[in-house]
Amino acid sequence: MSLHKVAIIGSGNWGSAIAKIVGENAQKHSDLFDRQVRMWVFEEQVDGRNLTDIINEKHENVKYLPGVKLPENVIAIPDLIEACQGADLLVFVLPHQFVHRVCTDLKGKLGKNARAISLIKGLAFHDNNISLFTDEIQNTLNVPTAALSGANIADEVAQEMFGETTIGSQTYEEDGELWFKLFNTPYFQVTVIADSVSVQICGALKNVIAVGAGLCDGLNDSPSQRCRYGNNTKAAVIRRGLLEMRKFGKSFFGGVRTETFFQSCGVADLITTCLGGRNRKVSEAFVNSGKSIEELEKEMLNGQKLQGTTTAKEVHEFLKARNMTEDFPLMTTVYRIIYDGEPPETIVRDI
Ligand code: NAD
Ligand code: 13P
Repeated sequence: MSLHKVAIIGSGNWGSAIAKIVGENAQKHSDLFDRQVRMWVFEEQVDGRNLTDIINEKHENVKYLPGVKLPENVIAIPDLIEACQGADLLVFVLPHQFVHRVCTDLKGKLGKNARAISLIKGLAFHDNNISLFTDEIQNTLNVPTAALSGANIADEVAQEMFGETTIGSQTYEEDGELWFKLFNTPYFQVTVIADSVSVQICGALKNVIAVGAGLCDGLNDSPSQRCRYGNNTKAAVIRRGLLEMRKFGKSFFGGVRTETFFQSCGVADLITTCLGGRNRKVSEAFVNSGKSIEELEKEMLNGQKLQGTTTAKEVHEFLKARNMTEDFPLMTTVYRIIYDGEPPETIVRDI
């Protein structure tokens, strides 16, 4: 049997943390995987040098995951087609707004035995319609595609702090063990299930709820104490958010299972993102800074990308086109606060 060749498409904060795991597992399971793992890097200049050159020399993504060594068998490549050439396992891990372009560029360029896994947290949005990235990847590239999502703050995973994740694969009997071996470690424990739909619904929508949780935190530490929202308030946002996430999944997608919301991809990811994620952090600052989300993203994230605010907008447009915004009051309120100038206090007050 020939060895599986892995290409990682993306190299941001999560992309780099997962490259560390995949690189280590490619070495550990040398009976299954080719030792070399290629990582596509959207090229940029850091201190006047190509980021790919820095990564290949220092074995560190100094911009997106500073202070963490990547295994030497992870090779950064600036050309997307070259990075994916000959690979039969494709790991998609990029901010959701860039996926369509990357898939278009890769169309017709993959081998016939390739399969993919999406680590993207977001939904594909075209012409007021929403779909899953596993479908977008599968339909554009003609490769079976699974999904991985969980309570996985990248910096913590990179520092080998214990956590869990969920892989959803409709073809798990065939490829579940392969994906498990590529990602599982003692500190990053993988559960494989058949329900890739809910895995992705959870991963995308928890980011919108985390924006709501950040707004509560911002009100809590508001200098004027104009409205005191505490931990109980944030818990209410999390509880209502979880219900809306499930309702959205069941209303618009077939095959959504309630039990998946109890996996790492569901309630656990919602909690960790509402406590320690970037969406929470930037929304907290939004309440008291008087700056737009775009300004704060640039100032606070050094090139990393928020997913929750764009997903809130996409979900809102999708719901509006169906006259259903009032059926999802929390997600609608998040949208109105971020984009329509509604006061942050309305996050729970008017629901
Ligand atoms: P990130 O937020 O660090 O984004 C930066 C990346 O986007 C960089 O690699 C940059 O090169 C790339 N980029 C910028 N412009 C681009 C363009 N025009 N085309 C292609 N790429 C471009 O990325 P991330 O943290 O790796 O997140 C990727 C996905 O993983 C997201 O959907 C995110 O929600 C999800 N995720 C993130 C975390 C986390 O803790 N960071 C954890 C789990 C899942
Ligand atoms: P943020 O994008 O809000 O940092 O969330 C990261 C995440 O998905 C944790 O599982």
